[in-house]
Amino acid sequence: MADKILVTGGAGYIGSHAVLALLEAGFEVVVLDNLCNSSAESLVRVAGICGRAPVFIEGDIHDARLLDGLFAAHEITAVLHFAGLKAVGESVRKPLEYYENNVVGSVRLCQAMSRAGVFRLVFSSSATVYGEPAEMPLSEDSPTGSPTNPYGRSKLMVEEVLRDLAASDPRWSIAVLRYFNPVGAHHSGQIGEDPRGIPNNLLPYIGQVAIGKLKELAVFGGDYPTQDGTGVRDYIHVVDLADGHLKALQAIACQAGWRAWNLGAGQGYSVLDMIQAFEQASGCVIPYRIIARRPGDIPACWADPARAERELGWKAQRGLADMMADTWRWQSMNPQGYAR
Ligand code: NAD
Ligand code: UDP
Repeated sequence: MADKILVTGGAGYIGSHAVLALLEAGFEVVVLDNLCNSSAESLVRVAGICGRAPVFIEGDIHDARLLDGLFAAHEITAVLHFAGLKAVGESVRKPLEYYENNVVGSVRLCQAMSRAGVFRLVFSSSATVYGEPAEMPLSEDSPTGSPTNPYGRSKLMVEEVLRDLAASDPRWSIAVLRYFNPVGAHHSGQIGEDPRGIPNNLLPYIGQVAIGKLKELAVFGGDYPTQDGTGVRDYIHVVDLADGHLKALQAIACQAGWRAWNLGAGQGYSVLDMIQAFEQASGCVIPYRIIARRPGDIPACWADPARAERELGWKAQRGLADMMADTWRWQSMNPQGYAR
């Protein structure tokens, strides 16, 4: 019988791509999502793409009774834990919501897993745990400890909770995946990123300028010590990221303990590089204006992804042109996102 995987936050941007990859690889999938930042339509689309649907449970990771019932009803072998809040600016305004949802929610999930005897966990962490980097590229051994906002601190706290948990009980096997900047969409154009309100992140913002929903892009800072003065990031295609989760699942099936892996392409691109590549892929002109730096932003950040290649057999396959073409396909086919 195929392994059954619980995916928390599986209706969201990255989670829905991981659910698709799991179903395509033959896994059974149960999604738990409270839809606070997503739509169940993403899972309908996933089923449309691959011809198989996950079990969908609308609910919250804090809900102990619901989790106990879920684990009793389904023989889960591992959990991919995407559920969480992710808006950096909002986390500065509402820190308690972020610590409650991301930290307390993760603790509740682990408690329920422990009661159910499920000890394999893949956690969605972020390169933000490295804070303002002293060296580049960032390897997993680069120091963590000073993220620049409550969102980043919540991710680091969960990492530490999970490290303590694995140290306390050898049955736990935990993969911490530190994502760099996820972008793009499934090449079908059926699933992608559907932010609520005005996007915070660069690519969704560019996409909405391209379809005329937003007037122009504000480029945050033109005076960074980078090749063209704009911020540099390591953008990673969401389908590559989803594949990384399958590889991590394989790894934690064979080894116990806590281990962190960077999931990035290992290459930095500036904001102006991104605008130019998007214009090439879409044929649209993206009007932009360089304004002041965004508080809390770092100049540059990219991964050393060698550990993931060596230990997981994972490497980003899709380059900038794919990221842009797939973002544009999703955006132009779904100008209202999942709302249609
Ligand atoms: P997303 O908001 O699209 O997905 C998160 C999902 O979790 C949503 O569907 C939301 O409804 C659900 N959710 C939130 N709180 C919940 C709760 N208490 N109970 C049940 N469901 C809940 O975000 P995403 O971009 O897909 O990110 C997935 C994970 O990856 C998050 O943990 C995020 O912090 C992390 N991450 C994202 C990025 C990024 O740039 N997108 C970068 C690094 C790490
Ligand atoms: N950025 C920008 N304008 C925007 C959004 C982002 O210039 O409207 C820049 C930002 O300063 C950073 C890069 O684009 O250099 C990526 O930002 P994003 O918010 O997507 O990801 P982050 O790395 O900050 O998590």
